[in-house]
Amino acid sequence: MDFELSMEQEILRRTVRSFAEKEIAPVARELDEKEEFSLETCRSMGELGLFGMVVSEEYGGQGMDYVSYIIAVEELARVDGSHAATVAAGNSLGIGPLLYYGSEAQKRKYLPKLCTGRSLWGFGLTEPNAGSDAGGARTTAVLDGDEWVINGSKIFITNASAPNSLGVTVMARTGTREDGRGAELSCILVERGTRGFTAREMHGKMMWRSSNTSELYFDDCRVPRENLLGQRGKGFHQMLETLDAGRLSIGAMGLGGAQGAYELAMRYAKEREQFGRPISSFQINAFKLADMAMEIEAARLLLYKACWLKDRHQPFGKLAAMAKLYCSEVMGRVASQAVQLHGGYGLMKEYNVERFFRDQKLLTIGEGTSEIQRLVIARLIGAI
Ligand SMILES: Cc1cc2nc3c(=O)[nH]c(=O)nc-3n(C[C@H](O)[C@H](O)[C@H](O)COP(=O)(O)OP(=O)(O)OC[C@H]3O[C@@H](n4cnc5c(N)ncnc54)[C@H](O)[C@@H]3O)c2cc1C
Repeated sequence: MDFELSMEQEILRRTVRSFAEKEIAPVARELDEKEEFSLETCRSMGELGLFGMVVSEEYGGQGMDYVSYIIAVEELARVDGSHAATVAAGNSLGIGPLLYYGSEAQKRKYLPKLCTGRSLWGFGLTEPNAGSDAGGARTTAVLDGDEWVINGSKIFITNASAPNSLGVTVMARTGTREDGRGAELSCILVERGTRGFTAREMHGKMMWRSSNTSELYFDDCRVPRENLLGQRGKGFHQMLETLDAGRLSIGAMGLGGAQGAYELAMRYAKEREQFGRPISSFQINAFKLADMAMEIEAARLLLYKACWLKDRHQPFGKLAAMAKLYCSEVMGRVASQAVQLHGGYGLMKEYNVERFFRDQKLLTIGEGTSEIQRLVIARLIGAI
């Protein structure tokens, strides 16, 4: 058993940490308040090589392993959840389906652009009436000659209406399954600017306020037949496989966010004095910090093991669901106690800890809620 990271992974961690502290920390609070996506920081993250991290160099990526990618997301989330979300969704949900199921022509067309971070791609699964039950999607795509005609809508899609969004992978009903059991679902690529396709930015989010989130509308939207991603009828399977890997990056956001909130709490608790002593010296508070440190350590071990399995091409779905669930819930507990340790100041926007408290909530909902993760795990351990 070897718990040591490679020298390259340690260097990557230091590099992303230093970048996040210098370039993101100074602007994160203001962007959150204005609910503004930053093209500038997105480009800087691209220049640092944070998009296309696991894509081979042949397609413009960095050719790194999954542990390295997860370390990068963790370090961004330690400073700001929204920036971590842009990168995580960019790599896992945007690039992932194209990389795993795209034809050679599709990969050559899109991946080099997406790997620079100059362009982003969305993952269109969720619909207003199909969230956890994503297989109940109503959006349709009908073949008319050499074109797919798409009608329907999607909601909550990350990275789909930013100024540099290039397009989206859409899951749609393309017919009835051969065995007659329900709809045939396929994934289709739709570029921004295609007639009949509108991506509208959503505002009013509680969390991830400087990450881009959109509603998508398809109104007789026509795209070429060759925009089908992989095999017809395999769309749901492709989306679920993409989410297996995506859960690792949600886990990394939970882990990094918990680490960031813990560090803020530790610093504050040592500085803040009441009754003539630092509040960290009261046993109940020292124990809170001890519990946070312990849970973060356990979360890191679980998440890194899931990534280690993925890097070795071993089944990793069960551990990915466990890591997503555990890391996101650890961040919930840590961020809540971190605010508690800040007292009234923790409730003020001037203190970054309140942003961590808000940002953590998405992690127990996005890419499969905590309830759905428990369902996935219960199935994988044979309980149901
Ligand atoms: C900021 C943000 C970004 C997102 N980005 C994307 C994206 O890029 N692409 C994309 O496709 N989607 C995206 N989503 C959507 C996200 O994945 C869904 O919100 C999530 O899957 C839950 O679906 P829902 O919101 O419809 O909730 P629902 O499915 O309606 O769930 C409501 C509640 O019911 C519970 N529930 C539902 N079914 C069961 C069950 N069988 N057993 C027990 N409890 C159950 C849920 O756990 C939850 O507590 C994003 C969401 C947000 C908020």
